[in-house]
Amino acid sequence: MTSSDYGANDYGTGATGASIESEAEGPGGAGSDGVGVGPMGTLDKVADLVRNCTDCPLAGGRTNAVPGEGNPQADVMFIGEAPGFQEDRQGRPFVGPAGRLLDGLLASIGTNRKDVFIANMVKCRPPDNRDPAPAEMAACTKYLDRQIELVNPKLIVTLGRFAFGRYFPGEGITKARGKLREKDGRKIFPVLHPAAVLRRDELRPTMIEDFKTISEILEGGTEETVEEPGVTMPEAPQTAQLSFGDAPGPAAVSAPQAETSTVNVEEATRPEQLTLF
Ligand code: SF4
Repeated sequence: MTSSDYGANDYGTGATGASIESEAEGPGGAGSDGVGVGPMGTLDKVADLVRNCTDCPLAGGRTNAVPGEGNPQADVMFIGEAPGFQEDRQGRPFVGPAGRLLDGLLASIGTNRKDVFIANMVKCRPPDNRDPAPAEMAACTKYLDRQIELVNPKLIVTLGRFAFGRYFPGEGITKARGKLREKDGRKIFPVLHPAAVLRRDELRPTMIEDFKTISEILEGGTEETVEEPGVTMPEAPQTAQLSFGDAPGPAAVSAPQAETSTVNVEEATRPEQLTLF
C-alpha cells in the first residue's frame, strides 16, 4: 500500500462527508429500518452522493465516479479495490479485462453480475492506477459501509489484498484466500484479484476453485458456525436466490490470456494492473 501525503482525518468528512454527518438522522435517515430516507437512505442516493463527491483528491482526476452496481438484495457482494481506466470511462465497476474474467467466473457458478452486487473500496480512479492511499480509503469508506448495510449480503467476497485488508489488516491474501472468515457479524470470503489472475495464468485454477467454494457456501446457507481463522464450508442444500444448478463449469471461464510474471501474489494487483485496463 502506498503512503499518502494526506492525513487519515483530512478527508474523512470533506464537503460531501460533512453534509452527511450534519444530518441529524444519520447517514441512513430516520426510517425504522434505516432504508429509504436520509442522504444515504437508498443505494441510488449513495450513488448520487458518490458521483458528486469531492471528499478526497481522487475527485480531481476522475472522468466518472464508479459507485457500484448490481442486485440491491444480493446474497453476495464483491468488493474490489478501485476503478481502472475502463471503469473510469464508463462509470461502472469491473468492465475491463479483469471484469470480463469476473463475469466468466460468475458464469462458472451459474450466476451473473445482475444477481450480485459489485463495488470498490474507493469510487474514483487513482492516477495511473496507483494504490489507493489510506486517507482516500478512509474518506470513501462511508459509501461502501452504507452500501453493505443496505444490500446486507449473506456473504462478502473480497477481491484482492486491499479489500481483504479492510477486514483483516496486516494479513496476507495468499494464505487467506479460499477460507471463509467472519468479522463483525459478516461472513467474509477472500479471493485473489482477477487482475492478478490475468497476469499469472497458473492462478486461474485456484480462482475457479475459490468460486466453486463461493457457490458451495451460498448453497449451504450462511447459518453455519464459522471458526477463526477460516474454514471451508461443507456442501449443503441449495438456497433460492442464486441458482447454480446449471453452472457451466470451469471451461466457461474465458478471459484474455495472462502475462506471466514473477510478482508475488500478495503484491500482484498493483501497479502491474496498469497494463490490464
Ligand atoms: S474516491 Fe470516494 S471519497 Fe474520494 S472523491 Fe471519490 S467518492 Fe469521494
